[in-house]
Amino acid sequence: MKKEIRTRYAPSPTGKLHLGGARTALFNYLYAKNQKGKFILRIEDTDLKRNQEEGAKNQLDGLKWLGIAPDISYEKEDQFGPYFQSKRLNIYQKYIDYLLENKLAYKCYCTKEELEESANKQRSKGIKLVKYNRKCYDNPSIKKDIKPVIRLFVEDNLKLSWDDLVRGKIEVPSSSFDDFIIVKSDGMPTYNFANVIDDHLMQISDVFRGEEHISNTAKQLYLYKLFNWNPPRFAHLTIITNKDKKKLSKRDETVFQFIENYQTLGYLPEAVFNFLSLLGWSPQTEQEIFTKEQLINIFNLNGFSRAPSQFNLEKLKWTNNYYIKKLSPHKLKEFLIPFIDQKDLLIIKDNLDNILLLFQDQLREGNEIKDLIKIFTIFPTWKDLDYKFSKKDLDLIKDFANKIKIIKFNHLEIEKLLKDLSIEFKVKGRELMRPLRLAITGNEKGPSLIKIIEIYGVKKIELIIKGFFKDEIHNR
Ligand code: GLU
Repeated sequence: MKKEIRTRYAPSPTGKLHLGGARTALFNYLYAKNQKGKFILRIEDTDLKRNQEEGAKNQLDGLKWLGIAPDISYEKEDQFGPYFQSKRLNIYQKYIDYLLENKLAYKCYCTKEELEESANKQRSKGIKLVKYNRKCYDNPSIKKDIKPVIRLFVEDNLKLSWDDLVRGKIEVPSSSFDDFIIVKSDGMPTYNFANVIDDHLMQISDVFRGEEHISNTAKQLYLYKLFNWNPPRFAHLTIITNKDKKKLSKRDETVFQFIENYQTLGYLPEAVFNFLSLLGWSPQTEQEIFTKEQLINIFNLNGFSRAPSQFNLEKLKWTNNYYIKKLSPHKLKEFLIPFIDQKDLLIIKDNLDNILLLFQDQLREGNEIKDLIKIFTIFPTWKDLDYKFSKKDLDLIKDFANKIKIIKFNHLEIEKLLKDLSIEFKVKGRELMRPLRLAITGNEKGPSLIKIIEIYGVKKIELIIKGFFKDEIHNR
């Protein structure tokens, strides 16, 4: 029987879900789902100083928002849990004891100063790859006041290689690293150690993670060898860059870094899902829009890009606009209401559905609605307009105001009125619409003027036109 595919996203709980982390999680998710396997969230919280109280929750919430809730996590464990590394210390201990007993690992009491001194000595001899000098392996000097670390004894004649799913064969000699630490002086296992034990015990079949882990993979393979375990397959994803082709770093101010930022700005999870899936992976077609189900179906291991993937905000906005346009009126309302100020909501509540529909096609971020709807909540002003109304414009506006009162107030009739005015005043298109729009909304741009007029209603139009003629603008 084919072994079940199990993938995992294994963040440290140091903050919110980052774009890069989300993409890593997404590829793990897509592959697991494509293979009808399991997607797992494991929290790697052994670096006590860096842990944040809400870190694990932030990560899980981010995944849920994105629509990739794990099958297994600290909320929903299986027989291989717990899924917090800090709750697995007794499990690691067994393997540490084994390594110590078999002299495959040893305690190291060297102080920082001793380590520095040895490193300096090596540098002065021209050695570039500074390594631990194994003092405590050969001749441990136990110091009572020092809590030792545990180092792995690394033989330096081995070749560690794997067929990377993104980059093909990678080979790293064990001589390129030293007796690395597997347990820190606070008793916590290091990332490289706990990661191997867990991936093995949790029966992880495939690991998709960032390329910054390539050097760790070699160390981890050393451990797999020692324990005689089959390692999972590895895929090291290329970096994400900003528009200047620099690696996205958490301090980069040109790009919002966290999934939560996109939620707050009004991105739909479907859009972010679609966009991130194509960041470093491609279905090898021109198609840009895919549903989640389609992506799960077509996801395969041949589509990874070997070049860095550039984060293109314009494309994300375009994708988001596509998904916003697809929302049903009900979903649109649910999505947009949180972005609108309470007092504005009260003003427009009777026309809310129509107003939101009016802007639906143009929205690229949900939060844009906040300002757009102001044309329905704020009485227009004309003082900032850079337009000189001609005598003909003003006559046109007056005539419009007189006639709008007497027509049957509906879309068709308003349309007809505008046509009549166009004939009467011998003006077409922009020449007709521009002065009217400016007088009615105080704005150059906006959605369909007829729809705005319909939503305003006769009374408001009358008030506005009165206001307009009271204003000095038309005399300038
Ligand atoms: N905790 C590691 C990280 O956040 C996990 C890396 C891995 O996937 O092995 O980078």
